[in-house]
Amino acid sequence: MVHLHRLFGTALIALAAVCGPVHAQQAERPPIATTKVEGTDNVYIFRNGAHQAMFVVTPEGVIATDPVAYGRPTGGQAYLDAIRKVTDKPVRYVVYSHHHFDHIAGGRAFKEAGATFIAHRRAKERLEQLADPHTVLPDEAVPDTGRTITLGGTQLELTYHGLNHSDSTLVMRLPKERILFVVDTIPVGQVPARGMIDFHPVETEAFLQKVIAMDWDRLIPGHPGPGDRLGTKKDVQDQLGLLQAASEQMKVLAREGKCWDTAEKEFKLSGYENWPGYANGLPFIARRYCGLWGRGT
Ligand SMILES: [Zn+2]
Repeated sequence: MVHLHRLFGTALIALAAVCGPVHAQQAERPPIATTKVEGTDNVYIFRNGAHQAMFVVTPEGVIATDPVAYGRPTGGQAYLDAIRKVTDKPVRYVVYSHHHFDHIAGGRAFKEAGATFIAHRRAKERLEQLADPHTVLPDEAVPDTGRTITLGGTQLELTYHGLNHSDSTLVMRLPKERILFVVDTIPVGQVPARGMIDFHPVETEAFLQKVIAMDWDRLIPGHPGPGDRLGTKKDVQDQLGLLQAASEQMKVLAREGKCWDTAEKEFKLSGYENWPGYANGLPFIARRYCGLWGRGT
């Protein structure tokens, strides 16, 4: 199902579509692209490499999210330029999804253009501790009780639902458009991998249940899903099922005293072998759940 209307790089994608299957399109597509989310008037996805962010255009300005420019010195400016191709309205806000640099580094061009940076309070605290030279510090902190940004007739709800992939993740929801933007905790149609490093296994299950209970239809992930499709509640349910299966299996191995090495060798996720990212993700999942059930951490 095609969810996105491609604004840029259309010719290249069309060529790839003629020449080969989906994986060929993925390989040949341009590094940077902006797409309008189908069925909306003003919601866009900016993608740089394998990272992406949502931005929303209103008559009174733009609400942008993650600069997605880690290791990409011109990435922030490229993002701003991409917004400029859509609107001449000022970028009023940049909202960080969580505190990880691969999503939020590179916002200087937005800061110089006058945007206010917003993040969860834990992200602000952490970023102030680390003082990364490439990452703009948040101007404003969102409390655990959340905040709603209202601009030019658009509402963007920022809510906090406890520990998950990080301790600073904001769930962003556009109530009118029934769209969520959640980064890293819910890989769409893929096996999680490095995102497990900073992952809170027990709390994430509760987090996912809360996300499922929210009112929305489509999920924009922080990394493009297979074929660039957006996520659904079924994807969240599937991800929860995967994590529960992983947890149950590792619990048995861990309680047999097999963590780390033996358990990690024996660990398999039956039924998920055909999911994208299985081989790459398996060791990360095993290590994290060995930490939980084998060490209590
Ligand atoms: Zn992350």
